[in-house]
Amino acid sequence: MPTIKELREHIQGYDDDKVVAYAIWSGDDIDMMLGDELEDEDDKDPTDTQLLSVLTQEDKNTIINNMHHAHDCNYGLTWDHLRSELDDLLDEKLKQCCTCEQTFTTPGYPGKECPHCGSGNWVYGYIDEAVQP
Ligand SMILES: [Zn+2]
Repeated sequence: MPTIKELREHIQGYDDDKVVAYAIWSGDDIDMMLGDELEDEDDKDPTDTQLLSVLTQEDKNTIINNMHHAHDCNYGLTWDHLRSELDDLLDEKLKQCCTCEQTFTTPGYPGKECPHCGSGNWVYGYIDEAVQP
């Protein structure tokens, strides 16, 4: 995974006064996208708050790493790109149905049906540990 240390090594040969354009994405941007930095609780999206609670630092590193390797010189990296990588990772996360209490890993956001009973009421992770939207 690309790190700040690798970036420093990469730019060592550049002239200090060279004018450049750059953008740095990190797990902090995932936190910001999911509203972690919103101070007013009313502005927070309950689903995004739930998603943030199930993401580990390793998950965030994986998302940023995937973004890095998918960089496109015409389109760069965007919030849409970050959201797409997040969705792909969340599709693989464990989920537990609040109705039948079965676990599953099929893709989907809250509201999509449980594959066991058809309920749309489920959480990422386990019921006892997840944040209810
Ligand atoms: Zn179910």
